[in-house]
Amino acid sequence: MDAGSDSPSAQAGPSAPTAAAAAAGTATAVGTPAAVDQTAADQTVSSVLARAADGGRITADEALLLYTRAPLHALGRAADAARRRRFPDDIVTYIIDRNINYTNVCVTACRFCAFYRAPGHKEGWVRDVDDILTRCGEAVELGATQIMLQGGHHPEFGIEWYEGTFAAIKRAYPQLALHSLGASEVVHIARTSGVSFTDVIVRLRDAGLDSFAGAGAEILTERPRHAIAPLKEPGHVWLSVMETAHGLGLESTATFMMGTGETNAERIEHLRMIRDVQDRTGGFRSFIPWTYQPENNHLRGRTQASTIEYLRLVAVARLFFDNIAHLQGSWLTTGKEVGQLTLHMGADDLGSVMLEENVVSSAGARHRTNRTELIHLIRAADRTPAQRDTLYRHLVVHRDPAQDPVDDRVASHFSSTALPIVATT
Ligand code: SF4
Repeated sequence: MDAGSDSPSAQAGPSAPTAAAAAAGTATAVGTPAAVDQTAADQTVSSVLARAADGGRITADEALLLYTRAPLHALGRAADAARRRRFPDDIVTYIIDRNINYTNVCVTACRFCAFYRAPGHKEGWVRDVDDILTRCGEAVELGATQIMLQGGHHPEFGIEWYEGTFAAIKRAYPQLALHSLGASEVVHIARTSGVSFTDVIVRLRDAGLDSFAGAGAEILTERPRHAIAPLKEPGHVWLSVMETAHGLGLESTATFMMGTGETNAERIEHLRMIRDVQDRTGGFRSFIPWTYQPENNHLRGRTQASTIEYLRLVAVARLFFDNIAHLQGSWLTTGKEVGQLTLHMGADDLGSVMLEENVVSSAGARHRTNRTELIHLIRAADRTPAQRDTLYRHLVVHRDPAQDPVDDRVASHFSSTALPIVATT
């Protein structure tokens, strides 16, 4: 491991010492031992990039080498080649879904979270089942195929609350995929109800849960995870719950919130932990990295991942995850233009229109889009847009711009109220 890359403040980038020396007028002379070392390092980077682009497996140490040393354009080219090996048709997908938050009351008090309120706080709220069903109905009317139910760890919500809510949604809207909760919720429900993780997963599945979201992964590496979420389950427990769920037929996604003070090595370790589980289960459908948002939370924005760091991580993820099919770029946290750029760094999915989102936007994410714009963004990035479902099956491939759907209502909303534009129609 590169000691220099192990500092939280170290910027990932190619050959930083050499560039600094050149800027300072002290560039390494050709033929010196330092120049020979540099040439050997460059050759190693090139050889690892070529192997990864060809579909070969790279180690975590090699991933760290690429993350910290590979030139950005070469990294993107290799990641794009790896993406095209899987998806030679250049289709990039998006989904229409709605994040419905059932409560903001939470006992876990993550330091990066701007959404939660402690039990008893005057701004705490709970949505009843009727409200949730109304929101599902609005989403269906706008073409949503997926609901992400997510919320705080309410001290009084046991397994029965989730069973009743999921069953009610499935009764009313059997066409909606319930891609919801995550390993952290399983841990919380098991504790609240006094049952095992396995029992929680089986009962959620039987009540209608189709797959788990990757929420709660944050960073799985122990040191930074404990620093930002000391009351959350350790990373190995999060992975163990996911592994159990995969074995019981519930697939999931895996996420990464980067930029809360972790080192470059800890970033790569997060990827390694996920890949090891994926080798055993094959249950992660996609990997979704995004960046920590700094407003209104206890970390107070002291750290944040830069755009370059994010793009490099996306590219390395495509090269490292030879066993996860899909890679999503985040327009919500990094902006629409950066989202477009991820499509040239190995991403094959641009996420959701997000008919409703309250959690990340509470912490400062202000980006919004709509279906028409998302399609345009993908096409302008020289890819073919397609609406997908939760299983990444293509529902509509938008090959002809003249046939693009136009509906201003299919747009992002950052609010905890029902969509007003739907309520009045
Ligand atoms: S991230 Fe989730 S578990 Fe953590 S405080 Fe926020 S709502 Fe609670």
